[in-house]
Amino acid sequence: MGDRSIHERVEWLWQLGRKHSQQFCGPDATLARKRYLALHPTHIMVLKCMDGRIHIPHATNTPLGIIEPFRNLGGMFHMGWPYLGEVVANSVTDAVERGRRVLLVITYHFSKGDRDRGCAGFDFDTEASIRYVHGIKNQMEHTFGHSRQTVYPVVFGFETDEDALILHGPGGIWNLAEATPVQGADPARPDEQALEQKLRALYPDMPRRILLDLLPLVLGNIRHIGEIRATGREIAVEHREWVICIGRGFDFLHEPNMALIVGPFSPDLSGPIAKAAGIIGSNMASGRIPDDGFLLLASAPYREAGMDRARAELKSRFLSQFADEVIKRERPDLHPKMIVETAVLDWNTRRLESIGPGEA
Ligand SMILES: [Zn+2]
Repeated sequence: MGDRSIHERVEWLWQLGRKHSQQFCGPDATLARKRYLALHPTHIMVLKCMDGRIHIPHATNTPLGIIEPFRNLGGMFHMGWPYLGEVVANSVTDAVERGRRVLLVITYHFSKGDRDRGCAGFDFDTEASIRYVHGIKNQMEHTFGHSRQTVYPVVFGFETDEDALILHGPGGIWNLAEATPVQGADPARPDEQALEQKLRALYPDMPRRILLDLLPLVLGNIRHIGEIRATGREIAVEHREWVICIGRGFDFLHEPNMALIVGPFSPDLSGPIAKAAGIIGSNMASGRIPDDGFLLLASAPYREAGMDRARAELKSRFLSQFADEVIKRERPDLHPKMIVETAVLDWNTRRLESIGPGEA
C-alpha cells in the first residue's frame, strides 16, 4: 500500500467499494445477514470516535450491515444536536415498530500500552472521555426511558492495542481482554453459558433478548482478541489514515486504520474536519503515510431512486464543498495535496457512485 501513488490508492479504494457492494449483494452475505437478524433481532447502534482503528464489526466478527455506526470526533455526541437526535430517534422508531429492541452502545477508546495512542479528540485523557460518554448515556435514558426495557444504552471502552471491548454496567466493569484465560484452554471455544452468566451479573436489568444478542459480540470479540494475540499484530498501531470521509455510508472501508470518518451529526462540522486534517498532516510529517496526497470522500446514502437520491446528491455536494473550504482555510499547506471525491450510496446494494466534484 505504502509505495503506491495517491491516484493508485484512490483507484484501489473505489475497487474496494465495488468489491464490497458485490459481496454485500451476493447470496452468501445476504442470507448470512438475514439469518443473523432472524436469530438476533435486537437493533444494535454504536456511537464511536472517527478514529480509523475503531471498527466494531471487525473486532467482534459481526457480518457487515448489522451494526449501525455513528461516527464523530472523539465519539463526542449530544442528543440535543438536531440532526443526530433526528437520526437516532428515527432509527429507534423504525426498530421498535418492527417489534425489535435496541442496544445502544456508546464507546470511548484508549491504548493500554501508550497514552499517546489514545483518543486525540480528548487530548488522550481517558478519564475525561469515560465521564463524557456516561453523559451521553444519561441523555439516551432521558430520551428513551430509564427502565431500559426497549432501548438499553451501554458504555463500552475499546482498547486499540488488542481491539478489546471493556463493558461497563451496573454490575461493574468487564474487560474482555481478561476473559480469554478465564475460559480455559481453548480461547476459540469460550464457555457460552459462563459468559451469559457473567453478562447477567453485569447487566441485571437487561432484557433477555438484548442480552442474548449482545452475547455474539462478546464471543466474537474474545475470539478476535485471541486471533490478534496468535498472529502477533504489531502492537503499536498508530494512525495511518490517508482518507477523510465526511457523511454516512462508509461501511465498505472495512480496513481498519485507513480513514477518519466524520459523521454529519454535529452542528459544528468544521472542528472535526480540521482535527481530521491535522491527523492526516501529522501522518504525512512522520512518514507513516506517503506525502503525495490524501483523499476527501463525501458520501450521502439514499434508500429510493427519485427524490431521496436527489437530496442525497445535494447533501454529499454540500459536505464535500464545506469540508474543502474548512481544510483550505485551516490547513492551506495540506489543501493542494487533497483529492476530492463526491459520492452517493445506494443503501440497498451499498453501491458507492461518484457524482464528481460538479456544482449542484
Ligand atoms: Zn478518538
